[in-house]
This record gives sequence, C-alpha cells and structure tokens, in this order.
Amino acid sequence: MSKQRQLTLDTVSVAFDRNLVVRDIGLELAGGEIGCLLGPSGCGKTTLLRAIAGFEPLAGGEIRLGGRTLSRSGFMLPPERRRVGMVFQDFALFPHLTVAQNIAFGLRRMDRAARRARVDELLELVSMQERRNHYPHQLSGGQQQRVALARAIAPHPDILLLDEPFSSLDTELREALAGEIRQILKREGITAILVTHDQHEAFAMADTIGVMTDGRLAQWDSGYNLYHQPRDPFVADFIGQGVMLPAELTGDGRLKTPLGLLDGRVPQHCEPGCRMQMLLRPDDVIHDDDSELRFEVLAKAFRGAEYLYTLKIDDRHRMLCLVQSHHVHEIGEKIGVRLEVEHLVVFPDPTQYGAPRPDTQTRE
Ligand code: ADP
Ligand code: MG
Repeated sequence: MSKQRQLTLDTVSVAFDRNLVVRDIGLELAGGEIGCLLGPSGCGKTTLLRAIAGFEPLAGGEIRLGGRTLSRSGFMLPPERRRVGMVFQDFALFPHLTVAQNIAFGLRRMDRAARRARVDELLELVSMQERRNHYPHQLSGGQQQRVALARAIAPHPDILLLDEPFSSLDTELREALAGEIRQILKREGITAILVTHDQHEAFAMADTIGVMTDGRLAQWDSGYNLYHQPRDPFVADFIGQGVMLPAELTGDGRLKTPLGLLDGRVPQHCEPGCRMQMLLRPDDVIHDDDSELRFEVLAKAFRGAEYLYTLKIDDRHRMLCLVQSHHVHEIGEKIGVRLEVEHLVVFPDPTQYGAPRPDTQTRE
C-alpha cells in the first residue's frame, strides 16, 4: 500500500508568456482520495495537472504533497523526484513489450523476484493475468488503459495523475472503466487526480470534483453538492441539466417566478424587489396526469428509461421534466406536473452574469 499523502494547492497560478491560464487555485485532497478537475476544453485542467507533475513552473502559489513542497514560484522539484505516476489518453504502451514487460518497466531497480511478484500482483489487480504475454496491439482500448494504469502505479507513486484517460474509448465503456479504475485505486489506497471534460466520468470515479472555468476553480465539492448546491450559475449550467428562470423577491420573502410564487433559499443581501435567477432541475418537475398545473410539450428526447420533455411555461420560458418512458405524450399536448421545489437554488442579480437565457439552458 502506498503511503497516503495529502495534496495541497495553495493559490496556484500558471502563466504562459505572462498570460495567466491557471489562476489562484486552492484545494486539498486527503491521502487515498480521488479528486477530479472537470471543465470545458481550454479551461486549464491539463496545465494544472502538468504543474502538479512538475512540467510547468508556477507563476504564484505553492504545491505540497505530504508536507513536502513540490513547486512554488522560483522552485520546482524535478518530475522524477516527485513520485508521481501518470496515465494520459495518448500515453501509449510500448508496442514491442508484452503486458508484463510494460508493467515491469518502472521496476528496473527491484531485484528479479520482487519485480516478478509486483507484476503478478498488478496483473491480478487489473484482471490481466491471462494476457501477461500479449502485446498491446492484441488488446482492446479498455485493456490497454488498464495496463497503462498498472504500469503507472507499479512503483507505488505518492500520487497518480490521469489526463483524459478514457477519451479514446467508446462512450458506453468510459463510465464502466472509470468505476473499475476507482475500485482499483481504492484497493491500493492511491491518491489520484483525474482530468476530464465528462461529468459522468467524474461522478463515476472521483470523491471530490473541482469544476474549472477560464483558469479558475469555481467549486471544489462532491458530485452531489455540485448538482444540488452549485455555487454559481456556471456550475449550475455545466453540471446536470436544468433551466434558469427569473425570480423576484417579494415583501414576504417568497419568490415571484413565471411558475408563480415559490419558496427558495434567498441569497444574502437581497431586499424585496431584488431580481435573481432560479435553477430548476428536471427532477424538480414531477409529471402527474392528475395535476391541474398543465404545460404544453415543446420537445421530447428519448433517454431509454425516461423521456426528457421540454415544457412551455410561457412565451419566454421553458422547463424540463424527466418522465418514465412508458408515459408517452406527444409534442403539442398539455401534460400535468407538480413542482417539488423545496430546495430551489437561487443566484443573485442576473445582470452580474448576463441576462437569463430562456431558450438555451438544456445541456447534457
Ligand atoms: P484543458 O486541459 O482544460 O483543455 P489546457 O490546460 O490544455 O486546457 O489549456 C489552457 C489554456 O492554456 C488554453 O488557452 C491553451 O491554449 C493554453 N496553453 C496550454 N499550453 C500552452 C503552452 N504550452 N503555451 C501557451 N499556451 C498554452
Ligand atoms: Mg487537457
């Protein structure tokens, strides 16, 4: 079992030609935990991971692992002295080496018997015993990534860094492999950071997820909290699905919305008359044929077990409703819903983030 060391990032910034692409990032990851950096392409995930690995110098802040400083402005422990393991999307296996030889690659300093024992242990860990003498081209993509993982963790790194390790795999395979790799890392007690733009991978693998946008860390939290308590509209929009509706605080502390008066957690410093935006998730809107609250179906998308219906609130506003797929309703039909909105999330002053966008809020 690796020694479990806590990773600390303290106001970390990275610049290319004085252009900050990672800004003031602070987070802590306990030993043995799996963290994830999640965000759209170009937001700085890979740059931050490369800074942790020791390939990019810091413009500011500090990176520590188990109390040891890895990087700070003007100081960089070389990558080979950081005890980091890495798995990349295109970090190909050595094609002329077998599975067992690939895994043994980082173990050259061990004596023969110890190396053999460690390779056997890892082959078992990633369920590749039967293929120890196969060459990479004889393996599926998922098997290759399991071998790449085994090779990276063979020398007992203090931390494992994975950059989009599933991107070249089929969508259906990704989530399953992410879950499988999570179990392997947990069994070995390895501290790890995954970089991905795919929230399903992040949910399947990580204990804590950092949503990044434009070089900043918007929220460092569990998947559950990112979905149910997003800290800002970017996180709300990026994680899960939903719509933003305008809301105005009334004198008695309720929210006036296109759906009528609702109760929600109102941000601090909001006075009556204060304009806000309210996040409505598809699971806040329950289909109920007997409800008198009825809305026209504008669109529907088949999701297997469910249909995702887009419902018309009024000329400017829409909402989403997830319905078991044996309730088939047609476009143009009006369907009944109940709102289950005890935990409405409300954000202050929409003008701070740009006007609400009534028609553009659906997102996978
Ligand atoms: P992500 O991994 O989230 O897609 P990156 O960390 O690769 O994002 O990139 C963040 C930003 O930094 C992008 O705007 C990218 O163009 C820029 N960038 C990345 N690497 C370099 C580099 N070596 N030199 C200059 N700019 C870079
Ligand atoms: Mg990247």
